[in-house]
Amino acid sequence: MPEIAVIGGGPAGLFAAEHLARAGLNVTVYERMPSVGRKLLMAGRGGLNLTHSEDFEAFAARYGEAARWLRPHLEAFPPEALRAWAEGLGQPTFTGSSGRVFPTALKASPLLRAWLARLADLGVTIRTRWRWTGWDGEALRFETPEGGVTVRADAVILALGGASWPRLGSDGAWAGWTSHVAPFRPANMGFDVAWSPVMQGFAGQPLKGIALTFEGRAVRGEAMVTRYGLEGGVLYALSAPLRDAIVARASATVSFDLRPDMGADDVARRLDRPRSGQSLSNHLRKTLKLSPLETNLLREAHGKDLPAEPAALAATIKAAPLRLTGVQGLARAISSAGGLRLEALDETLMLKDRPDVFAAGEMLDWEAPTGGYLLQTTFATGLAAAKGALARLATPPPPPAPPATDRP
Ligand SMILES: Cc1cc2nc3c(=O)[nH]c(=O)nc-3n(C[C@H](O)[C@H](O)[C@H](O)COP(=O)(O)OP(=O)(O)OC[C@H]3O[C@@H](n4cnc5c(N)ncnc54)[C@H](O)[C@@H]3O)c2cc1C
Repeated sequence: MPEIAVIGGGPAGLFAAEHLARAGLNVTVYERMPSVGRKLLMAGRGGLNLTHSEDFEAFAARYGEAARWLRPHLEAFPPEALRAWAEGLGQPTFTGSSGRVFPTALKASPLLRAWLARLADLGVTIRTRWRWTGWDGEALRFETPEGGVTVRADAVILALGGASWPRLGSDGAWAGWTSHVAPFRPANMGFDVAWSPVMQGFAGQPLKGIALTFEGRAVRGEAMVTRYGLEGGVLYALSAPLRDAIVARASATVSFDLRPDMGADDVARRLDRPRSGQSLSNHLRKTLKLSPLETNLLREAHGKDLPAEPAALAATIKAAPLRLTGVQGLARAISSAGGLRLEALDETLMLKDRPDVFAAGEMLDWEAPTGGYLLQTTFATGLAAAKGALARLATPPPPPAPPATDRP
């Protein structure tokens, strides 16, 4: 029976392993860490946003240019299929008010437990503390607790992850052992802001129900003030263009709308009430429920002396500019951009220069915002790579070329 080596025990590798084992193949998953699925468990700390319920066109558009080649894989394994799969593991899902989809358990551990039990039933072998260190001709080279080992397999699925949160296992070291790799960059990460000491005092506090605009794109949601700057959903949604702008021009100026549900006139009307000796902070709190954090953000953006005139003050609330001066690194980014380039792969996700070797998951060169888009594509490409391997194993090798002759 064909032997399949799956390298990397994250969701992409485990999902490929499940599909291949169901087809009756001998599957071994090799994982460098003492246990599999560490990043999945970390994602579970935020509730495990598995996928998103928006319509397919809007969903696919989240992947930018990569949507073109990811699309067939997402069509073959769409969000409904991921939800059904989770349900099959005893983890029903629900759709939150933002359209994001979560397991009702709001964590990953029960899902991973049930999944590993299923894989064991299917006969999948999992070898932990086996670190793949590259190729020895056609064979795979590993460092194991017992020393160096080489392994031969009929097909290989590489599912080594990207390069964010390296302490969870995906350190991106594999990029040195293969060609055609786009450099890793942080994605869905925090940004630096040169806060005043007053604003630093607000670290850990959220800005809720705000809108953030950059280069004409507005996103609604939340942000979190940190000591170094800002992070959170609205920053993640714009993290790719913001990162690229900061790399190109050393900074990027975003604009906050602290009351996106109200028009500027409405805001001005509320502000146009008698102040009767109150401080501006109190006036903003009473008329618009602006928190001390929001008022200080306005001062940070527009200077200490905010305008008194209602229309001008309203304008500061509807557009508070803030300069982002740097990008937080891969160590704490939710995901990474970069990885194995599309040109290195055929449409079945097989490496063009290494037949019978397939790749899946975050190690491929695509990026997406948070919202369930990362896991959905991780699963979809895991399945695509497994199907690619199955099709390849089912295809008889081409007949040997006829011997060359001197005749014309
Ligand atoms: C804090 C956080 C929260 C997140 N929340 C969400 C969320 O809510 N929704 C969402 O969609 N996504 C979320 N993500 C992203 C999501 O977890 C990843 O996109 C997903 O885990 C990628 O799966 P993968 O299998 O491709 O890679 P990984 O999960 O990174 O798995 C790769 C595996 O390969 C192993 N490996 C690496 N190199 C080797 C080697 N040389 N030899 C052997 N094994 C190796 C690693 O140890 C790892 O176990 C979150 C990520 C983080 C960090």
